[in-house]
Amino acid sequence: MAKEFKISKSEGVCGVCGQALQPEEEIVALACSGEEELLRRDYHRACWDSLGENTPADDPEVLGVWRTRVPRPEEKKKLLVDDSLIINFFERLDGADDPAKINFRYVLALILMRKKILVYEGMDRRDGGVEVWKMRFKGADAIHEVIDPHMDEDKIAQVSSSLGEIMEGDFE
Ligand SMILES: [Zn+2]
Repeated sequence: MAKEFKISKSEGVCGVCGQALQPEEEIVALACSGEEELLRRDYHRACWDSLGENTPADDPEVLGVWRTRVPRPEEKKKLLVDDSLIINFFERLDGADDPAKINFRYVLALILMRKKILVYEGMDRRDGGVEVWKMRFKGADAIHEVIDPHMDEDKIAQVSSSLGEIMEGDFE
């Protein structure tokens, strides 16, 4: 995992009309995966809705879509995500082979494990030595595989904070 995991913050403009987003405005936010970085895109809800079936929601690089609002400048930063969104991201990244996505999914798995939503069942070693965690959602039988990218503590902290940044209303 030599690749740096970079993140771009919200640019604070709508992806359709190009207007600056104002505090309190209701928006649709996207987390997308680029080659080596996570990108955030934002849209006015009305602009998003005007795209009809042509929204980028189903594009392969889109990791997650959530509805939020632009925070006021004096508001404390907080994670504007709920568990279902993290689960949605986790499931969406199943089978991804891009290193950034594998790292991202692994960190999501750690978060879901900490929340006792995802349960660790064991580990398999694939050809080539890749370690794959077998996991299942609490109360469910289906096994989900999570590649262990052997990230060190610093890397995990870095990806976790990237995750926080894209999901915070960070418009600076
Ligand atoms: Zn707009």
